[in-house]
Amino acid sequence: MKLEGSQHNALVTPNCVGGLPVWVLRVLGLSGPVERKTDILRGGHVCGSCGHLKGCHNNGTSHCGVFAAVPRHELLCIFGTGDLGRSLGQRLLQCGYKVVYGSRRPGGCGPLPQGTQAMNHEAAAQHAHLIFICVHREHYDFLEPLAPQLKGKVLVDVSNNLKKNLYTDSNAEYLQRLIPGAHVVKAFNTLSAWALQNGPADANRQVYLCGNNAEAKQAVTETATKLGFSVLDRGSLSAARELEDFPLQLFPRWRLPIRLTIGLTASFFFYLLLREVIYSYIVQQKDMSFRIMVSLANKVFPIVSLILLSLCYLPGIIAAFLQLYRGTKYKRFPDWLDRWMLCRKQLGLLALAFASLHVLYTLILSFRYYVRYRLAAHTISQIRENKTSPFDTTMAWRTDTYYSMGIIGFCFYLLLGISSLPSVSNALSWREFSFIQSKLGYITLFFCTFHTYLYGWDRFLYPSTYKWFSPPGYMLSLVVPTVVLVLKLLLLLPCVDRSLIRIRQGWERTDPEEESTKSLLR
Ligand code: NAP
Repeated sequence: MKLEGSQHNALVTPNCVGGLPVWVLRVLGLSGPVERKTDILRGGHVCGSCGHLKGCHNNGTSHCGVFAAVPRHELLCIFGTGDLGRSLGQRLLQCGYKVVYGSRRPGGCGPLPQGTQAMNHEAAAQHAHLIFICVHREHYDFLEPLAPQLKGKVLVDVSNNLKKNLYTDSNAEYLQRLIPGAHVVKAFNTLSAWALQNGPADANRQVYLCGNNAEAKQAVTETATKLGFSVLDRGSLSAARELEDFPLQLFPRWRLPIRLTIGLTASFFFYLLLREVIYSYIVQQKDMSFRIMVSLANKVFPIVSLILLSLCYLPGIIAAFLQLYRGTKYKRFPDWLDRWMLCRKQLGLLALAFASLHVLYTLILSFRYYVRYRLAAHTISQIRENKTSPFDTTMAWRTDTYYSMGIIGFCFYLLLGISSLPSVSNALSWREFSFIQSKLGYITLFFCTFHTYLYGWDRFLYPSTYKWFSPPGYMLSLVVPTVVLVLKLLLLLPCVDRSLIRIRQGWERTDPEEESTKSLLR
């Protein structure tokens, strides 16, 4: 049972346990167990075999031999009884380990998981081979005098910093310098106390680890695996700084896609504002500013969405042409292309978000006052003029196909988004994943592009479309996806496809000039 501080205080007072005075419990013959319970409620600091209070171990000796029967690898020590120390202890207990805490105040630390013991650091260190240092770096100097007791032990550094580059060296390397005789392993720092307490969930399964001693890393790996985490070894202790920076990262892969999305949204918003509102105001003396909220927004969202989706596929196409041009896959791509390829998932998710907004805005179009007003005015004017518009089958086909392409495109969009979730993509084979993300991706791009072409239809033929000689937004949005689809078709030509497959399987085209230079040198 884990008690919160306030709960613990409410249940246990010097003369009262669980709301009953101690003398009442004595009369009821419950004094023994209750006093024992009192100690447990105070933090579970009762020796399992002799029933003494935990203070009895503070001299550093295990006089009652409570841990004598516990195999050495099953008894772990945690220095620090704070948030992470308690959560980690609880999780270790649940997974079958015995836990002993090293604390500055073994008699006065808060409630600890039941079944654990708190001692001073020196005594606790003697009991276990593996010690988790759940203390902030700023307090590591208390470990220095313990160097003889910590010699040969595995010290797991779980610490993080408040800011990047706060210190010249990483916390783990600093700890290793303080206790050169110990084997420091950096691990568990990317998990929160909350995640540890709740066990590994889908999104939080990974424990990153690094250290200089292979056996020490193996011991930590075994413990992490037993706790249900999967371990990723990042190499020697020099990688600790990188691990310590992980929790301080602020959406590193999202920065470029978000900047691009904001840039595109702002540019198209002002472009359409100029064409649809300012133009009407200046040239036609009409106030169309009310269109900003729905009409304009519902033009910006699909435009940005389509461009972002095509930008997901453009870097792959550039990379393919680069490989064809170079005749090898063994030359590095330029940095900008590398960075672009690494953020394709984020670009795709933002494209999906904008497509979803477009769908929602489209659903409300028929309720709009402006649309209802225009419809009613048109009908009344036709009645007045005694006119009827003949049914246009071409128009019916066009609009139905336009909507149908949009709906199918959006469903594929959703499928792409769902398959990019780690829990889903982990369940797919490499071939399934690449089929969805590549083939289905291009099909989605095709449907959405076709949807936009149908929206434009023959508007490009009318001069009134080009207000102030500027093309409408949808035309601009078609440039990148059309280029991507045409280039993809080129790559699918059998002769080009065959060369690309050979290059990707390791074949290299030799440069004739290079060959002749080599033969001259021979
Ligand atoms: P915390 O709640 O503040 O606990 C730190 C513990 O360190 C205290 O309970 C105390 O235990 C001990 N301590 C404090 N001052 C000390 C001193 N001068 N000398 C020796 N020991 C001292 O902190 P925490 O949240 O558990 O974090 C502990 C470490 O884990 C930190 O390095 C943190 O960066 C890392 N971490 C935390 C989380 C998290 O979710 N909380 C996640 C990842 C990593 P005693 O009173 O028993 O001595």
